[in-house]
Amino acid sequence: MNRMYEGVKTWNPYVGCKFDCVYCKPSFQRQAKRRKKWCELCYRYEPHFHPERLKKVPNAKTIFACAYGDIAHARLEWLGKIVEVIERHEDKTFYLQTKRPVVFEGLAEYYGIPDNVKLGITLETNLSEFNTPSEYKHYCEISKAPEPEMRISTKAKIDFITVEPILDFDDWLPTYIRSLSQEFVYIGYDNHNCKLPEPPLEKTLKLIEELEKFTEVRLKTIRKAWWEDSPNKLRVRP
Ligand code: SF4
Repeated sequence: MNRMYEGVKTWNPYVGCKFDCVYCKPSFQRQAKRRKKWCELCYRYEPHFHPERLKKVPNAKTIFACAYGDIAHARLEWLGKIVEVIERHEDKTFYLQTKRPVVFEGLAEYYGIPDNVKLGITLETNLSEFNTPSEYKHYCEISKAPEPEMRISTKAKIDFITVEPILDFDDWLPTYIRSLSQEFVYIGYDNHNCKLPEPPLEKTLKLIEELEKFTEVRLKTIRKAWWEDSPNKLRVRP
């Protein structure tokens, strides 16, 4: 996850993550660290529950629940309590997103997925190896989350995909997205200058065109890859 979603407020009864994505430190983790005064666990971004926030659901139609972290590390009973609150706010829509969608399968089995929840997965790419000028050549150097391809094989019903921060991809990405979600897709480049293995802008624009044939595409930061105007461009292997 990266820059917040327009028109969407966050609600964080659960905070923390162990996936250590390199692009998280300058974004979500930096924001969580500002809370050191209130919560040491938020500061360390350790997976933990804030039950006192269950009653403080923001006044908004659409709410990104547990945006500061990944619920893949949450205890099932914490998620059960969160789902109970969500069910009581049937006039609002809640987004839940993860990089390990098996958590949705457990949630569905134990508590059910309320009708006012939209389930999303982050799919920055469909590749595990990159051939760009970035120093990151393998997905596992960027994140400890399950490889993107493993996320695609989920049995959970996924409502939206977040391709952010976008990483280089191949021609199969639209097919994978189509097989998972027909509702909407967020897409955007990194906002924190992490020098990720980004695709060139032209390739991303073609992807957007493909996706728009079958789904709603919600654009975030769309720009040239950081390396496109740089001499390092010459370092791309043939
Ligand atoms: S999965 Fe999300 S919350 Fe966890 S480290 Fe990565 S970006 Fe941060």
